[in-house]
Amino acid sequence: MNRSVALVTGAGSGIGRATAIHLAANGFAVGVLGHTSADVEATANVIHGINGCAIALTADVAVEGEMRAAVAALLHRFGRLDAVVANAGINGVWAPIDDLKREEWQRTIDVNLTGTFMTLHVTVPELKRAGGGSIVVVSSINGTRTFTTPGATAYTATKAAQVAMVEQLSLELARHHIRINAVCPGEIETNIDANTALRGEEETAIPAVWPDGQVPITGGAPGKSVDVAEVIAFLLSDAARHVTGAPVFVDGGQGLLR
Ligand code: NAP
Repeated sequence: MNRSVALVTGAGSGIGRATAIHLAANGFAVGVLGHTSADVEATANVIHGINGCAIALTADVAVEGEMRAAVAALLHRFGRLDAVVANAGINGVWAPIDDLKREEWQRTIDVNLTGTFMTLHVTVPELKRAGGGSIVVVSSINGTRTFTTPGATAYTATKAAQVAMVEQLSLELARHHIRINAVCPGEIETNIDANTALRGEEETAIPAVWPDGQVPITGGAPGKSVDVAEVIAFLLSDAARHVTGAPVFVDGGQGLLR
């Protein structure tokens, strides 16, 4: 069978892992990319366990040489590339602007923004070669609809910039039959808290309470990774053939409330 081929970054956990598994279950061969080998191998093993096709790829999304090597390995294995999910990201350090260190700011920019650039920089030539394709960038409600997350200035800057990139590139890439969209999740249960450091919250917190919780559609509970994965799969599919340059909010209404 001639399968479509997808690359998913940050696929060792959370939204990326759920997306890789969901795409594989729907017939994609998947490049499962992350910078922790054991985690991407575990995701690839889950896919093999459901008789899906996957290759585990270890790379830091911000490092060009590692990303080029990973894409080369994916092409060597599956021969083509049709879809890209630029998902890898960190919350990084959340702190008052006068306390946030330059290297803390830079790390968030490197992973979330330069990592997105690098993912697209090394994969778009392959989509062009395939005659078209589809890209989804995982942004956030932070920086697009929501500005109340304490101290998250570096994070919101990267997430806003990702949507700007999607809008700009939707026009540049349309002539190559490449669609590009963003998903903007609200609070989703993942491992991202492990990549979060919060300092000086008393200086940055916005004093607001939501007695019924922050996510209207669930009665307050956070979303699940698969809630985002299914929207990503739709945006990559032919059912979304007339959708490009669009930020799609997957937040149960949370961004409108906050
Ligand atoms: P997660 O569970 O922490 O997953 C992120 C994955 O990306 C991890 O496997 C992580 O690996 C990997 N990663 C981090 N830095 C990387 C790098 N430099 N190179 C390659 N891989 C890297 O978090 P998640 O919640 O699924 O986050 C996925 C995306 O969703 C992020 O872009 C995030 O901003 C966005 N998002 C999440 C939420 C939420 O509430 N969870 C809300 C809005 C948007 P390690 O664990 O080994 O570092």
